[in-house]
Amino acid sequence: MLPSSISLDAREGPRDECGVFGVYAPGHEVSNLAFFGLSALQHRGQESAGIAAADRGRHIMTRRDLGLVNQALTANDIISLGGELAIGHVRYSTTGSNAWENSQPVQRAAGSGGNRRELALAHNGNLINAVELHAALRARGVSFASTSDSEIIAALIATDPAERIEDAVATVMPQLQGAFSTVLMSKDRVLAMRDPLGLRPLAIGMLAPLDEHTPARYCFASETCALDIIGAEHLRDVRPGEVVSLGEDGLTSIQVIEPEREAFCVFEYIYFARPDSRFEGTALQVVRGRMGEILARESPVAADLVIPVPDSGNAAARGFARASGLPQDDGFVKNRYIQRTFIQPGQELRKHGLRIKFNPLPEVVSGKRLVVVDDSIVRGNTTAQIVRMLRDAGAAEVHLRISAPPIKHPCHYGIDMSTREEMIAHARTVPEIAARLGADSLAYLSLDGVYEAIGAPRERHCDACFSGDYPLAGSEDASGKYALELPLAAGGRIPAAVAD
Ligand code: SF4
Repeated sequence: MLPSSISLDAREGPRDECGVFGVYAPGHEVSNLAFFGLSALQHRGQESAGIAAADRGRHIMTRRDLGLVNQALTANDIISLGGELAIGHVRYSTTGSNAWENSQPVQRAAGSGGNRRELALAHNGNLINAVELHAALRARGVSFASTSDSEIIAALIATDPAERIEDAVATVMPQLQGAFSTVLMSKDRVLAMRDPLGLRPLAIGMLAPLDEHTPARYCFASETCALDIIGAEHLRDVRPGEVVSLGEDGLTSIQVIEPEREAFCVFEYIYFARPDSRFEGTALQVVRGRMGEILARESPVAADLVIPVPDSGNAAARGFARASGLPQDDGFVKNRYIQRTFIQPGQELRKHGLRIKFNPLPEVVSGKRLVVVDDSIVRGNTTAQIVRMLRDAGAAEVHLRISAPPIKHPCHYGIDMSTREEMIAHARTVPEIAARLGADSLAYLSLDGVYEAIGAPRERHCDACFSGDYPLAGSEDASGKYALELPLAAGGRIPAAVAD
């Protein structure tokens, strides 16, 4: 059956969450660095983008809008923002709907006169106690301009009585539960904080001094690919439970919470992060190639050709071909220019389904027993269409090999997946899934295989969407993506400006 609607947005994987960037470089304009840093993080969020910037001691200005980085931010925006310090954000909504009000950075101000605090904040992750914190703040008379949990963090920091912003951040961190790789700025500092489990990545970079008279310039980014693009050296990651602050005194750190355990998201290795980003010093392209090699060892199949689902299966397909000795080719050509459009395909094009994005090559696949490699399956609609397109193009057999275990549980830490019931692997055996997808065979990489490819122990990671082992108590009781829309609706309208 053909799909009732065609998403031209992205493939049907779990949705990336958000990307954050921050830079402190006195004496230099940094909004353009933030722009290019965010461009490198575009894969982490395509719904909205924004930058907040300030010259030291001056008011913070923010530009943000719906769309990709180069749609949301114009050249005039970057020129008018200028700034010696800046933060930026790309968003895919995980709490709150895709609306302008929920785009980031969030800007808040609190207090008055000499006690006035002004800040902007960008957040990657999800709070599992957002509803409780939101209710407590509203009870104190704090109002909100958005329905995202990120504004809760901004409101808590803005209204904290501590004189120094780094102390306010340190006071707020223990009140937050969930995932928060966060960058924020006051009028003269840029800060980063990471939740005690270290669920989402957050790297620290150093830009080379322009000459011997200028101080070191530092930056933060969700992934190291954003450091590479602006010529920054990866110093280290923000540690779980740490607040790092950049100011006139250089880089300072407060270890607010000593983590009992780490739980870095294993899906960042498999899918979310860009292949040229590095975790633990290794590029993910290499790790994903290893996943394909191990998958070939665990689940070999008699076949003629290995093809990837582009681009998500590229690295693992190369690894599978290497380890199996089978030849590899491209079975599809992907249209790279049709990612986001508001133009509906209409009935005539709708019947071609996924072909608008992926066009199979009969000259390559016809008559072949194919191994088709991808990195994950959530609902399975796209995968079923891929199998059907390959058969229509003349493939003799279609064997699916997936470089991750079956996804059976929702994520509460900043990834928007389907509900449990929508997941094709929920309450189904692998042969049952293969039958639904129309494949001749299906095999997934084991969880042990994932950790072998990563080369790090399971105890330091979260793999709850595969295993159901959530690293944080109470995660499964967390409210859904639109939980904060209800109090806002009850309270009436979205205020035009917020100053608590
Ligand atoms: S549940 Fe899955 S996607 Fe979410 S943080 Fe854990 S491993 Fe990552």
